[in-house]
Amino acid sequence: MKKFIIANWKCNPPTEKKAQQLFLSVKRGLKKKKNMEVIICPPFCYLSVINNNLSFLKLGAQNCFFEDKGAYTGEVSCEMLKSLKCKYVIIGHSERRKIFGETNEIINKKIKKALKSGLEPIFCIGETLEEKQQNNTFKILEKEIKKGLEKVSKNEIEKIIIAYEPIWAIGSDNPCDEDQAMTVALFIRKLISRLYNKQIAKKIRILYGGSTNSQNAFNYLRNSEIQGLLVGGASLQAKEFIKMIKTFH
Ligand code: PEP
Repeated sequence: MKKFIIANWKCNPPTEKKAQQLFLSVKRGLKKKKNMEVIICPPFCYLSVINNNLSFLKLGAQNCFFEDKGAYTGEVSCEMLKSLKCKYVIIGHSERRKIFGETNEIINKKIKKALKSGLEPIFCIGETLEEKQQNNTFKILEKEIKKGLEKVSKNEIEKIIIAYEPIWAIGSDNPCDEDQAMTVALFIRKLISRLYNKQIAKKIRILYGGSTNSQNAFNYLRNSEIQGLLVGGASLQAKEFIKMIKTFH
């Protein structure tokens, strides 16, 4: 199965010029590979700086809105993202849930709108440290998945990438170990099988994210249950990001 490596630049880099440089350095360091899709998710304002030079790299956004148009100051619609050549959109990142108050209901609306618009959602789920310590990981993940995917049809679900991002592992230098990430991936597949069917569960793409780098990337990528990585900090250093990808080539 193909692997997906997604760069989440978050609110970085600080200027358009630096965004362009970062993108070009990543592109120069990589070659098109059949078994690997590399997706760059810059801030909205850099999408049009990057989108005329994509070649084999794919473009994603870090967020979207669930309405098409109108009086929604500051929001960006899925149609706008499509028109800027985005193929993917990250939805439900823990920073959006925590800092911007996004609920499972809002995330569900965004997922449905993204799908209707022809974008492939990268749907993030994950538990806090407290939830993990209280042995509530699976309970939290089940709730996030059930609510996030409410009324998402069998045809649509195949377009979704699920990213397991334990909140305690994000930006912490404390990644979730490969075995636990695999256990969670298996749990997600079982749940998708119950909610949809076995074939869909087999095919659904499940990624891991949280403090990955060139030292640990291969541990996840070699695992057939994990179809790739969502990368934050390490995606801002071109050399490190390229090295991560090349560990699997
Ligand atoms: C993220 O925020 O999606 C992420 C995985 O960040 P980092 O790689 O920096 O832990």
